[in-house]
Amino acid sequence: MPRVKSILIRVEIDQAKKAHNCQANASHRIERGGTRLKVRNGRSWDHYCVPCAALIIERDIAELQDLQRRFNNL
Ligand SMILES: [Zn+2]
Repeated sequence: MPRVKSILIRVEIDQAKKAHNCQANASHRIERGGTRLKVRNGRSWDHYCVPCAALIIERDIAELQDLQRRFNNL
């Protein structure tokens, strides 16, 4: 069976090895050992705090549902 390519960017959930700022909002601090969302960006990764990750996922689901609706209506 031919592999159907995914349109989703590679993401992972991991724990910060050291404290750093969230890449969506510099006032959000991710503490060492804190859970974060890792999103592939070219050859590196972007890291987001849990509240930002929840928002990003919610928005992307809405966008995918909109895309699905548009294809279902063709
Ligand atoms: Zn954040």
